[in-house]
Amino acid sequence: MFKKIEHIGIAVKNANASVALFNSLFQSKPYKTETVESEQVNTIFYQIGPNKIELLEATSAESTIAKFIDKKGEGIHHIAYEVEDIAVEMERLKKEGFQFIHEQPKKGADNKLIAFLHPKSTNGVLIELCQEIR
Ligand code: ZN
Repeated sequence: MFKKIEHIGIAVKNANASVALFNSLFQSKPYKTETVESEQVNTIFYQIGPNKIELLEATSAESTIAKFIDKKGEGIHHIAYEVEDIAVEMERLKKEGFQFIHEQPKKGADNKLIAFLHPKSTNGVLIELCQEIR
């Protein structure tokens, strides 16, 4: 079951410059920063009322975020939905014909199990499923 939009991910070139920008925009500071080695990204989280925004900065030129920015520039990268049970949801969506970038859920930032749907199967929108690690 899809529960809600968990966060929106924004690809940025330079985390320091973007944190200054978003601090000023939101009039608040990130509640968390975390490097996800497996994805080669620094993640920076803001809480805006009930919503979260995740800034993503590449830590290497091989990072999918670096490749995304090369191709499309900075901007909205993905929409993450919180699901009740990620394994159940992945199985259901695979049966429905959706493609995943990774076949198994993996550990993402912010204490979550995550999986990305391939944007080819979702109208060009990169969708992340995430489930709190319980
Ligand atoms: Zn995300």
